[in-house]
Amino acid sequence: MFGRVPRRSNNTKYYEVLGVSSSTSQDELKKAYRKAAIKSHPDKGGDPEKFKELSQAYEVLSDPEKREIYDQYGEDGLKEGMSGRGGFHNPFDIFEQFFGGGSFEGSSSRARRQKRGDDVIHSLKVSLEDVYNGATKKLSLSRNVLCSKCKGKGTKSGAPGTCYGCHGVGMKTITRQIGLGLGMIQQMNTVCPECRGSGEIILERDRCPSCRANKVVQEKKVLEVHVDKGMQHGQKIVFQGEADEAPDTVAGDIVFVLQVKEHSGFKRKYDDLFIEHTISLTEALCGFQLILTHLDGRQLLIKSNPGEVTKPGQYKAINDEGMPQYGRPFMKGRLFVEFNVEFPESGALSPDQCRAIEKVLPQLPRGRLSDMEMDQCEETIMHDVNIEEEMKRRKYQRRQEAYHEDEEDAGPRVQCAQQ
Ligand SMILES: [Zn+2]
Ligand SMILES: [Zn+2]
Repeated sequence: MFGRVPRRSNNTKYYEVLGVSSSTSQDELKKAYRKAAIKSHPDKGGDPEKFKELSQAYEVLSDPEKREIYDQYGEDGLKEGMSGRGGFHNPFDIFEQFFGGGSFEGSSSRARRQKRGDDVIHSLKVSLEDVYNGATKKLSLSRNVLCSKCKGKGTKSGAPGTCYGCHGVGMKTITRQIGLGLGMIQQMNTVCPECRGSGEIILERDRCPSCRANKVVQEKKVLEVHVDKGMQHGQKIVFQGEADEAPDTVAGDIVFVLQVKEHSGFKRKYDDLFIEHTISLTEALCGFQLILTHLDGRQLLIKSNPGEVTKPGQYKAINDEGMPQYGRPFMKGRLFVEFNVEFPESGALSPDQCRAIEKVLPQLPRGRLSDMEMDQCEETIMHDVNIEEEMKRRKYQRRQEAYHEDEEDAGPRVQCAQQ
């Protein structure tokens, strides 16, 4: 058995901060943190430095992976791993995570966090060719950026335009007398009428000339949107922090949502492509060849095997000629070809031609009916129908009937109510 690596002096501090031993369990660790964090929370009059240390220690030791690194290399080992992500979390966030938030009313952690600006969502129309081949779209967008002249302060002097009425608070305490001559006084908080609650007033003479005290200016920017091979309809491409800037705000994202336009020839289902192709009856029976121009311009030769008969509605698949997979564009789906067979129009064949075909094609299972058989049957007349139209009409009829039934149902109830 390998024991723990002998502890050096720089990998025990966190345990000491939490007041536990280095072999402590996660459960004990939690208990120790809970007790100490409540005691040292700044909102309860604790020392902010102590609180921060405590949260850092807990953040590391409560994560088995980080704890192992810490045990081996101490704080130096963690710095490498955590520096890329901006170091430790906000101690108040850890506290909130632990206690489920809102443990102390008016906890200062919320005020510390910056507002996040809205995301801006655009739809981006692309063709099927674009998502088959990959494409780069250049889009010109205008957005608000912090005024560089005044660094988003809005003032010439660079000082924030603090409201003189409320000293920047946005609220004012007003005192008024209630009851006549009784000397009773009521104090109440109200929105500062000077700045209407913003806490800020920028005087005319101190206005930044560049942004006219707006703090932001419009900027035109060209974004290059890379549409990768295999991207799906509705997939999002995100430009982090590229939306409007505003003072004390983390800019939101610009999000492009792909709208893949319908293609006249190819239909897409996930990584597969579908096309329909119509062949003549002769081609269906005797074989066919066709040249298909693919989405990248390649010409594919598609042909039937010798002696093969193609039936109406039949599908054939070609491997690796479907859509490239997103993230693995060298992997491709299948291309399905659905065959329609166009039959000759009525009357296109003369009786002689029919006899010639009958000689070639295999006989029907029953062959021709005898006169005797025909005499025993009732003759019928078939006429042409448009089945889709028929179905639609049928559906409409049913809906009408259901509607009338509802009306009949409603009738007696009204009468009951009147009695
Ligand atoms: Zn004010
Ligand atoms: Zn400005």
